[in-house]
Amino acid sequence: MSSSTSTSAPSGISPATLPVTALPGVGAAVAGRLARLGLATIEDLMFHLPARYEDRTTMVPLARLVAGQRALTRGTIAAVDGRAGRRPHLTARLADGRTQILLRFFHPTTRHHRLLVAGGEISVYGEVRLGPHGCEMVHPEIAGAGEESLQEDSLTPVYPVTAGVSVKRLRRLIRLALTHVEALPDLLPPALNDADLSLAQALRLLHAPPLDGPPVAARRRLAQEELLAHQAALVSMRRADRKERAHPCQGTDLLARFLAQLPFQPTAAQHAAIAEIQADLGRAWPMRRLLQGDVGSGKTLVAAAATLIAIDAGYQAAIMAPTELLARQHHKTFAAWFGDLGIPVLPLMRASRASKEARARLAGGEVGLAIGTQALVQEVVAFDRLALVVIDEQHRFGVRQRQALQAKGRIATHWLAMSATPIPRTLAQSLYADLDVSILAERPPGRLPVTTVALPQTRRADVIGRMRRACGAGAKAYWVCPLIEEGESDRLSAVALYDELRQALPGLAVGLLHGRMNPAEKESVMAAFVEGDVQVLVATTVIEVGVDVPSANLLVIENAESLGLAQLHQLRGRVGRGRAQAHCVLLYRAPLGAVAHARLACLRKTDDGFEVAQQDLLLRGAGEIFGDRQSGLPAFRVADLADHAALLPRMRTEAEALTRERGEALSRRWLSVRQELGEA
Ligand code: ADP
Ligand code: MG
Repeated sequence: MSSSTSTSAPSGISPATLPVTALPGVGAAVAGRLARLGLATIEDLMFHLPARYEDRTTMVPLARLVAGQRALTRGTIAAVDGRAGRRPHLTARLADGRTQILLRFFHPTTRHHRLLVAGGEISVYGEVRLGPHGCEMVHPEIAGAGEESLQEDSLTPVYPVTAGVSVKRLRRLIRLALTHVEALPDLLPPALNDADLSLAQALRLLHAPPLDGPPVAARRRLAQEELLAHQAALVSMRRADRKERAHPCQGTDLLARFLAQLPFQPTAAQHAAIAEIQADLGRAWPMRRLLQGDVGSGKTLVAAAATLIAIDAGYQAAIMAPTELLARQHHKTFAAWFGDLGIPVLPLMRASRASKEARARLAGGEVGLAIGTQALVQEVVAFDRLALVVIDEQHRFGVRQRQALQAKGRIATHWLAMSATPIPRTLAQSLYADLDVSILAERPPGRLPVTTVALPQTRRADVIGRMRRACGAGAKAYWVCPLIEEGESDRLSAVALYDELRQALPGLAVGLLHGRMNPAEKESVMAAFVEGDVQVLVATTVIEVGVDVPSANLLVIENAESLGLAQLHQLRGRVGRGRAQAHCVLLYRAPLGAVAHARLACLRKTDDGFEVAQQDLLLRGAGEIFGDRQSGLPAFRVADLADHAALLPRMRTEAEALTRERGEALSRRWLSVRQELGEA
């Protein structure tokens, strides 16, 4: 880079904190586009890390190019062919001895026309593809003889970009920003730095790593800071919580009466969780508890107990579920459980449809419990004495929704989050240092593990035959199909499958359930399935979360190879919720890739969520499970729990000891708006 690197800062201010416009060549327009990536300051640029790297260090001879790989190569232009018109197009043959490849350019620029002339020597970088006439590159980067070379001496970073800012430009800007890297304050307490790398060294290595990639220590160095920042934020939230006041809920005998009238005995794990919650609710500061339990472990009952404790003490409670289907199911369950106790339950799906009168009863405090979707957080919904908020399948919600619901209390509310994401306890405790964790480690007694088989599509007829026999003998079955209508993909759609099964299963009632049906239709088909009027329910993945029909014991999952392990496990959790032996058939399209094969094999082997999660971790790395929003775990920028989980306990301890200034500086650096947006 030859441009000026002198960025003047008023003395005393670290240049790192200056806005990106302090860099030469960055005006308001570019700054606006960078803002979309969450990049406001020079420091932000330094922490914008590559998503991957390209190897432009080696000039690969044409003869050694491999289709599917990106490579830097060079040669002489042997021939050029152009086409003008509405879709101008330029092709050039690049030759080296007897080897030739084809370069294709659409809408070629004047620079392309200038450089791509017969006899010209150029180097190109791009992805090699196998075309009809051998290897080709579509729109490679090119450099002519007199131009700056494409060859680099370290790996080339590839950054996440946004419209209007190219990777090339971002590379240039970040390189400029990095000239100030020594000015960054190192926020890791020195005692923690066992890698002996300074922050500046770690950042430089990550942006321009040597040929064998950035050293593990560089990533780890930043991961430490990031995890510490996360822990520091949790510690301060927790301290703030402790100062808040919530309604202490001391119930009398309602809970005991409820448990006594249940048709089953709560498990020991359920009892323990309820006791922990009861203790929390009795206090004058807000409960923050995560209830974890594999699919079918009986979390709903624990939620019911929690709400009863609040109601018994004269307060109100709210339960929020991610889908209307699930909210309605909860409403039915709770209405049945609480009916005899004389406790009305108000369903609240869409505020527009909840009658004014019903909302008035909630606002007036007449109704103790509201169960609904995120419609609950709408402004028109008000409570009189809201003391407890329960969030089911919490990983489906953003923090914002959770906070909005909690804000409906006059003072701080107690909060219970439920999740089926199986995370080892120690990890959960470190990750959620602000939460207490209860775990339902056992399923209700008498449950048999779901037997699982994987079969190729070609065996569908057998599967249908088996279903005909089983349902003829009274069984109930789900047939899950990931798509709704026939689309671009050739996968069978739920609608087509519905037609097929109605034909193939005469005498059996087949129902259809998908996300685009209106709520009333969904409810009536669900009700018919529960009642047994529908025996085979063709469904999309809408049934993935929470749906509980204990009498269903056969499940077929279409195109199982296209779904992730966690999702397959959740889906399978729809059966095996009663005492009968349940079966799951995973239908796949052959041939199976290695990873898909491993996934299906894992499901055949175990139906324990923790084991499945462990396997998932191995198959795709923690980044994907823990990083993705579905998991409900914080999305880290550098830290990867597969590699760095062991750092957590230490960071948690250190976070307690941090000075407030350092804690705040860490959150500013690591917990930026960027992440907030990701979660919203
Ligand atoms: P999840 O943890 O997946 O939310 P649910 O709360 O929906 O599980 O419970 C699954 C099923 O098990 C429900 O039909 C529920 O009524 C039943 N159940 C819950 N607790 C027990 C228990 N202790 N004994 C027997 N059945 C139970
Ligand atoms: Mg549930």
